[in-house]
Amino acid sequence: MTDPTGEFSDRIVVVTGASQGIGAATALAFAQAGATVVAGCPALESERHRQAVADWREAAGLSAERVAPITADVSQVEEVTQFYDTVKKHFGRVDVLVNNAGINRDHTLAKMTDEEWRAVLAVNLDGTFFNCRGVLPLIVEKGRIINISSMVAQTGNFGVANYAASKAGILGLTKSLALELAPRGITVNAVCPGFIDTDMTKGIPDDILQGYLERIPLGRAGLPEDVAATVLFLASPGAGYLTGQSLGVNGGLYTGD
Ligand code: NAD
Repeated sequence: MTDPTGEFSDRIVVVTGASQGIGAATALAFAQAGATVVAGCPALESERHRQAVADWREAAGLSAERVAPITADVSQVEEVTQFYDTVKKHFGRVDVLVNNAGINRDHTLAKMTDEEWRAVLAVNLDGTFFNCRGVLPLIVEKGRIINISSMVAQTGNFGVANYAASKAGILGLTKSLALELAPRGITVNAVCPGFIDTDMTKGIPDDILQGYLERIPLGRAGLPEDVAATVLFLASPGAGYLTGQSLGVNGGLYTGD
């Protein structure tokens, strides 16, 4: 249920890729804390994703006015422009943007096709850029932008050069934009999840998965809710002096910066 006196009541929060996984958990957590959430859905199989948003919203007992699914392929600049035109028409402003939409197309570099490289950079990095730029005219003073990067941006990993490059690019974008938006009191930060149990990690073969899990000091895979809680912290008033940073949510798997 929603808390009408919640920390984010009267806030307009945009979460891209909000139909499932980390995005759904984050959008739900904001809505339960009182926000009105714009739940971004991809253009591909848009109806299925919009239905998935309706399903988690209804399961949580939230009214349709509190969670608005809006479609845009984040890799297509025209669609992102249209997305923010729609957000402006219906809500007039944005308080928080969470750039969460992302894909992976794993292969070792020797076998990686141009299409796999470009597709991942287009959704993960171009998509984050298009959304950051698109939200600028709408985001309020002291607004928040939170970009979902990845632990592999910090460590690299076997077979994910395209994904790691896109997520490392997000860190550079985050730091630069933090400096550009600081005069408006807007903070820009990144979250670097480690191994989180979602559809994205479901395809990992069992033996490799077991190896990953054994190396996690906190002894379990992360949950989408673990990431959502960190995103809500970064959007909270208490995090107002924190900008240009990346926070690892990885169970201790990587303890560097
Ligand atoms: P997921 O596959 O369950 O969710 C990805 C979301 O992105 C979906 O809602 C999907 O509809 C959306 N999306 C994909 N392409 C899109 C497009 N072109 N336009 C708009 N939306 C699009 O995976 P997840 O694990 O929930 O991933 C969420 C984010 O977290 C991603 O950016 C991912 O890279 C990142 N991440 C995940 C993990 C992990 O272990 N699961 C670790 C580090 C980072």
